[in-house]
Amino acid sequence: MASKYCVANWKMNFNGQQGKEFVSLLNSKDLNNGQSQIILCPSFTSLFSMVEASSNSAISVGAQNMHFEDSGPYTGEVSAQMLNETDVKFVILGHSERRHVFGETDDMIHAKMVQSIKSGLTPILCIGENLDERESGNTNQVLRSQLEAGLADVNGEYIIAYEPVWAIGTGKSATSEMVAETHASIRNILAELNVSENVSLLYGGSVSPQNTAELAAVENVDGFLIGGASLDVEKFYSIYSDL
Ligand code: PEP
Repeated sequence: MASKYCVANWKMNFNGQQGKEFVSLLNSKDLNNGQSQIILCPSFTSLFSMVEASSNSAISVGAQNMHFEDSGPYTGEVSAQMLNETDVKFVILGHSERRHVFGETDDMIHAKMVQSIKSGLTPILCIGENLDERESGNTNQVLRSQLEAGLADVNGEYIIAYEPVWAIGTGKSATSEMVAETHASIRNILAELNVSENVSLLYGGSVSPQNTAELAAVENVDGFLIGGASLDVEKFYSIYSDL
């Protein structure tokens, strides 16, 4: 059976102190629903302090990105080895903001997948179609090509997050019917690519306490990747409790 995850993508929000306060508030709650693992993904500068604050707790920490090379002339970038120094266990790769705002290609994301697994990190590979692609009936084709490219010759543990671009940060989540249909298609594509059904498939895109009870009940939804609502500890805990 696939494991469940409740993942916070804080994006470029929260400094180290705010991150530690969040961890302390979250840790004061009952985190033993036994259903899902919590992963908080803060900015690079907070990774050391967040790992320290969450040690000996049910909370894990992940990064939001990394470079695919070991080292070199890549100003502003952070390697997998550098992430290992912080002791994080997870890294988000191929988020739509990385793809669309920072121009990351499928080839770059694939190289990051290979490098993260080689370095002992568990990547969370994000895939998703934009509005034009959905409206023109190309969703499955887009997801298939992102999966084929991202997972080519990748062996090891990873998590996949389906995040329709049009649902990210818009307050317009995919409906549970759409998520059911799309997650079923993704599972079919994964089966064709010989990917184990134990690989977890998360949904992300305007997840909030208003829609998680319904979305969590959808078949093939193994958890959530949460942006906006993950900045509020009460909302995040409510979502976690729905899993
Ligand atoms: C995200 O950025 O991964 C995300 C899902 O954002 P939001 O929850 O704000 O839509």
